[in-house]
Amino acid sequence: MYKISVAGTGYVGLVAGVCFAEVGHQVTCVDIDEKKVNLMKSGVSPIYEVDLEGLMQKNYAEGRLDYTTDYKTAYRESDAIFIGVGTPEQPDGSANLSYIATVARQIAENIEKDCLVVVKSTVPVGTNDKVEQFIKDFLVNDVKVEVASNPEFLAQGTAVHDTLHAARIIIGTESKWAEEMLMNIYEPFKLPTVSVNRRSAEMIKYASNDFLALKISYMNDIANLCELVGANIQDVAKGMSYDERIGAKFLNAGIGYGGSCFPKDTKALEYLARQNGYELRTIKAAIDVNKDQKTLLYKKACRRLITFTGLKVAVLGLTFKPGTDDLREAPSLENVPLLLEAGSDICAYDPVGKDNFNSVYPEGKIGQGSIKYVENAEEALKGANICFIFTEWDEIKAVLPEDYKKLMKTPLIYDGRNLYNNEVMKEVGVEYYSIGRPYMRLSNAMAEVAATKN
Ligand code: NAD
Repeated sequence: MYKISVAGTGYVGLVAGVCFAEVGHQVTCVDIDEKKVNLMKSGVSPIYEVDLEGLMQKNYAEGRLDYTTDYKTAYRESDAIFIGVGTPEQPDGSANLSYIATVARQIAENIEKDCLVVVKSTVPVGTNDKVEQFIKDFLVNDVKVEVASNPEFLAQGTAVHDTLHAARIIIGTESKWAEEMLMNIYEPFKLPTVSVNRRSAEMIKYASNDFLALKISYMNDIANLCELVGANIQDVAKGMSYDERIGAKFLNAGIGYGGSCFPKDTKALEYLARQNGYELRTIKAAIDVNKDQKTLLYKKACRRLITFTGLKVAVLGLTFKPGTDDLREAPSLENVPLLLEAGSDICAYDPVGKDNFNSVYPEGKIGQGSIKYVENAEEALKGANICFIFTEWDEIKAVLPEDYKKLMKTPLIYDGRNLYNNEVMKEVGVEYYSIGRPYMRLSNAMAEVAATKN
């Protein structure tokens, strides 16, 4: 078993650290955020992930896991240091590598024994080479240090499961020593391992993420065409899913991909291609489609309504997907400002994301509109003129079609997650718009009632 430090306790670093401890390694999770470190020491997870808190408490109690801001001591004693700090998008689309550089410098100045540095963060191809050179340039003690690439593929919402039961471990190394050590670290997980060189490992991460983003944008593109030609994207996806070459996953059309990875990783790869004199047309298309998709429903609603001013707007779902409190690049963050600017009085519900959203859009009057947060979907819907569904939480899926009819002043729904059956919504008298499915027109009389109640 190894002494491991993990730099960064976000979704990737913390989950990796906890899972390394769970399989028996001695782990120290390092973060610069003292508040976070104290929280973790008290047994509380700073992020919402199923099963994470329980494993944190168990491994901390059993002495295999600790948290610290004291990187000097942590790095000095480590056999391997995993880097899981952020690589956020910069205005030009490139990845910001400053957090990685800071950690690399801290490592170089503090390690006192041979050490393998493993980059888990998603970084542009060639970064591991630079990190290794950078560490060697600043190395204070006469020790052996090498850098390996070990990209992470977990999905937020299922991060612990995805780590303990990963489909594959990608190991990118340039020496037998580094390869063997990483293999040994992962040995207790008993998972399929693919060992390649560092640049290929870096590319595997981007190529995988961008392929998934492309798949989503492709389905959204087809969905938009389905609407125009009278086809139903859910039926189309079902028909496609039987083909093993296509696969059954990531075929759901919706309001576009968000999160901390797909948006930035598509842009970073497109940027990398441009830097190398190549135009990555497929990924550019995925980015373009996604950008338009996020506000598609808002634009549709604008065409349907005279004004949003004074309308009570129910927003169901704020996080970029269920199972996480992460808001990064969530469709809600694109639509809520538009709705507020247009004068809406928003009543928002999300099972776990409302505190984070409240710190961006504090409850109260904002510009022409206002926002308040409520404890359940029913409260948000009560007396609403219009409802937008942005996240497919189970709590939101549980709202029955007749509840919209019963609770809303005018049951007008824009569903970015295709949660309901069009015909059922029509039967209960709800005016319902979704993605890539033909709109079932209510009887004229019903539509008129809905319009006049506005
Ligand atoms: P995050 O933003 O949630 O967490 C980063 C953490 O690093 C923060 O807690 C921050 O305080 C800490 N940090 C910054 N500088 C530090 C330093 N010098 N020393 C120690 N800690 C420091 O990031 P994340 O979402 O976990 O993503 C990390 C990387 O992993 C990114 O490159 C991302 O693209 C990649 N990735 C993320 C996911 C995901 O689902 N979130 C999945 C796969 C890969």
